[in-house]
Amino acid sequence: MRIKTILFDLDGVLYIGDNPVPGAVEVIEELRTSGFGLRFITNTSTKLPQEIIRKLTNFGFNVSSEELFTPLRSARDYLISVSLSRMYPVINSEILPYFKEFIIDQENPEFILIGDIGDKWNYQLMNKIFNFTMNGAKLIALHKGKFYNSGTGNVLDIGAFISGIEYSANVRAAVFGKPDLNFFNSAVATTKCDKGEILMVGDDLDNDIAGAQKSGYKTVLTKTGKFNVNYVQLSDIKPDYLIESVRDLPKLIKEIK
Ligand SMILES: [Mg+2]
Repeated sequence: MRIKTILFDLDGVLYIGDNPVPGAVEVIEELRTSGFGLRFITNTSTKLPQEIIRKLTNFGFNVSSEELFTPLRSARDYLISVSLSRMYPVINSEILPYFKEFIIDQENPEFILIGDIGDKWNYQLMNKIFNFTMNGAKLIALHKGKFYNSGTGNVLDIGAFISGIEYSANVRAAVFGKPDLNFFNSAVATTKCDKGEILMVGDDLDNDIAGAQKSGYKTVLTKTGKFNVNYVQLSDIKPDYLIESVRDLPKLIKEIK
């Protein structure tokens, strides 16, 4: 197998919360210099793409906007394609400008747009979303993550709340971002590589590893970020390779070449 392009998850792999993973900046530079194609695919829904680039740049990473893929664009393209216009946003206010063509409707929305809102979840909000959904509004989820590492430990992600509403209202949310195969494909389509030449590096078994394996890519799980040994042992999802940190990636790639 010859790896030509490497897909990186961001949070938990290159940085954790507000701190870069030690050695990650150098690894990205080294791989770029060695000629690998690099793409960065993140489910981050708290920041506009240009703000993610700014955060990476501040850490010292050299990443261009053409290499970055976030669920914001795929969700917006979908909403436009199905002509939904009145939304109830349950998203971080920072990304609201990205959805400015949609009308905010607090009473009778056509869809509820759900992204990360940290610890702002509560019974009243869930019940409101539940009732909108029972009245026919569509659930649009920027992702459906189970948990993430906030920098001080693992915390519940929006998937827990979305699943609760799906369960009670007997509906399914439209989910964008990883592990949606279209999302992976939108990044890989820009590389001209065959699936056997792609390696995905992530800290999330369900979103990064399972999604990439279904797409036919090789996978590396890092023990940084949300890695939890019990969760990994109990899961049916088995990464092709396991490394302590992204710092060990160049060595691994030399071994599997
Ligand atoms: Mg991650």
